[in-house]
Amino acid sequence: MLNLDVEERDVYFMRVALREAERALEIGEVPVGCVITRKNQVIARGCNRREALQDPTAHAEILAITAAANHLGSWRLEETTLYVTLEPCPMCAGAIILARIPRVVFGAFDPKAGCCGTLMNLLADSRFNHRPDLRGGVLEAECGGILSAFFREIRARGREGVPSEDQPPPGEAG
Ligand code: ZN
Repeated sequence: MLNLDVEERDVYFMRVALREAERALEIGEVPVGCVITRKNQVIARGCNRREALQDPTAHAEILAITAAANHLGSWRLEETTLYVTLEPCPMCAGAIILARIPRVVFGAFDPKAGCCGTLMNLLADSRFNHRPDLRGGVLEAECGGILSAFFREIRARGREGVPSEDQPPPGEAG
């Protein structure tokens, strides 16, 4: 670990986040995974659990941020890096700012909800009192691939009532 440069370390921890995304997949959730590191050690993990918990806020990042705060005994996640397989949404970008996370690395870009550069960039807005360093596109193909495979399978099965970011249920469009 010590002899890895930043680039290699980002790839290493993104693979750990991908394992969390696979965990989400195993329980039928949209596969997004997150880990938070401090001093090159994983201190918290989270995977999307929106369906299991029936909680719209149960995104991978939120669960990992809460776990990291519990681990540190502090709401300020100083000296941490958050790795997530999908570009954070507005809620998670907000939580990242509130937790004062110094650095964020994400995998795939999210054209539907990404607020770290795609739709807007909340993490780069100088009007907020905290601006994390940001890097996107790490293992982008793998991180995006697990999501597209998930949605492809959902469509192939033609199941109803299954969450799809691509096709919101009638009445919930927009
Ligand atoms: Zn989110």
